[in-house]
Amino acid sequence: MGRARILLVEDSRSQAKAAKDFLEKNGYEVILAKNGKTAIKTVKTARVDIILLDLVLPDMNGNEVCRWLKLNEDTKEIPIIMLTVKGEVADKVAGLKAGADDYLPKPYNNVELNARIYACLRTKALQDGLKQKNLQLQNLLKQVEIMAITDQLTGIYNRRQVETILQKEFKTASRYKTPISCMIIDIDHFKAVNDAFGHHTGDAVLKEIAKLIMESAREADIVARWGGDEFIVILPQTKKEEALQAASRIVKAISEHDFQDSPNERITVSIGVTSIPHPSLNIDTEEKLIHTADCALYEAKRNGRRIESI
Ligand code: GH3
Ligand code: MG
Repeated sequence: MGRARILLVEDSRSQAKAAKDFLEKNGYEVILAKNGKTAIKTVKTARVDIILLDLVLPDMNGNEVCRWLKLNEDTKEIPIIMLTVKGEVADKVAGLKAGADDYLPKPYNNVELNARIYACLRTKALQDGLKQKNLQLQNLLKQVEIMAITDQLTGIYNRRQVETILQKEFKTASRYKTPISCMIIDIDHFKAVNDAFGHHTGDAVLKEIAKLIMESAREADIVARWGGDEFIVILPQTKKEEALQAASRIVKAISEHDFQDSPNERITVSIGVTSIPHPSLNIDTEEKLIHTADCALYEAKRNGRRIESI
């Protein structure tokens, strides 16, 4: 980082020159502004690290300039030291209320001015560092939160997340007596795919199937990897007939798909579907909903059929 840049807002030419000379000798870069409007314009267009602001200016009161800068999102972080001949407590309080970070009555001692500038810059640097750390932590937290709900291989929701969502959806459906459907999808003879093409290709197939299911599902449906070669779709506000249509769409999309690593190989899935309200079964928990869909899947596999519902 280069030298710290100070904006000195001072209408007295002699005082401005004296302060500028001193500050430059102490290693700062100094920009001068003779009035409030020029000061605001300068801050808007150039990088400024700290502002020394005279209270009495020809066009506006220094407190007004201070207030404006502190209300503005782009300039509110810049430390401001108010400089004034007025040593009254009320003036100091007004300056601090306007948002000034420090206050120095004129005539000030140059060494004290230097020390106050340094202190303000140090505080600012600490705050910037903290803000940066906070931002990094927030980003990290977001990543951890996403990782906790995502299946690493396919990038869709994992089992834990779909369980959490289903708990809420099931409660809503039960309370308002609205339908909800659940389908469990299992890849047919997936072991054979692994055996023929290797685990790496098997993983690629799982990813492509996850994508195909996502594309077939409606926005309100919740798609997740249930584990291994199994996927689950929760369809809120969906009756069994509509869920069966959705299942047919998935079966068709997958069986017609040319898989990247094995384009000539047809891969199929079996799907078990169930819904509430159920005409004969008492499905009063989300676990029972999943268990029933699982039984339907078992039936589908056993009957050599693509889709089975209970
Ligand atoms: P079925 O038609 O009865 O479903 O036969 P299947 O061969 O698909 O048998 P099953 O569903 O019982 O076995 C799932 C297989 O999926 C077992 C395992 O080798 C494979 N598998 C599970 N997880 C992964 C994974 O993350 N990557 C790969 N490549 N394979 C997996
Ligand atoms: Mg399988």
